[in-house]
Amino acid sequence: MSKETVKTRPKCVECGAELELYELDYEKDRRIMQCPKCGLYHFYRKNFFGRWKLVKVGRVSDLWRK
Ligand SMILES: [Zn+2]
Repeated sequence: MSKETVKTRPKCVECGAELELYELDYEKDRRIMQCPKCGLYHFYRKNFFGRWKLVKVGRVSDLWRK
């Protein structure tokens, strides 16, 4: 595996709980993480340097499906 498994997990922008991985898409270099507490989805995209960057937050998990 790569450096993606970081020790400090990202936190929810609303309640501050540690996010859990909901979906990971290697082909498109993006992932969705969900807050176990309030259920908010956090959408990440890999940037030029190979780091995950939060691009948006939403209540539905299929914002990227279209
Ligand atoms: Zn939350």
